[in-house]
Amino acid sequence: MGTRGREIVDMDVKEVIGLLNKAFADEWLAHYQYWLGAKVVKGPMKDAVIAELLQHAADEMRHADMVANRIIQLGGTPVTTPAQWLKLSNCGYDAPDDAHVKTIIEQNIKGEQCAISVYKNIMEITDRKDPVTNNMVLQIMSDEVEHEEDLQGLQEDLAVMLQGT
Ligand code: FE
Ligand code: FE
Ligand code: MG
Repeated sequence: MGTRGREIVDMDVKEVIGLLNKAFADEWLAHYQYWLGAKVVKGPMKDAVIAELLQHAADEMRHADMVANRIIQLGGTPVTTPAQWLKLSNCGYDAPDDAHVKTIIEQNIKGEQCAISVYKNIMEITDRKDPVTNNMVLQIMSDEVEHEEDLQGLQEDLAVMLQGT
């Protein structure tokens, strides 16, 4: 990273890299959970759910890209093996073994709620100390808030629809 860019990080750069690598692992697992969920999901409103899951899968991969770029900018290395994703992850991975829309939506809401908490925590730790990371994390967290809202909207629609039958 540029010398002045590093000087303005008023905290342990290794600590920031550590937090970002855990978030990086979360993003890849979230990407795969959405991507595979979109492939296997079954049940009412399937088409609307698939469209949302695919959009979120793309967003999570974009987040992984943003986080990786910042890790490299700080002089770190994004984790180099998928085996490390599960070990480092904050939010883990829920396999879409029950492919019903209701279950898939519930699992992904849980993932988004975890992601929001993780990024809120990184925002607090980097507040006034690493403004570039802080700003990036704010952008990602805003997407996660939108993801949660989208999924809870689908969950409500689904409940209304099932009630009417
Ligand atoms: Fe994300
Ligand atoms: Fe998300
Ligand atoms: Mg969406």
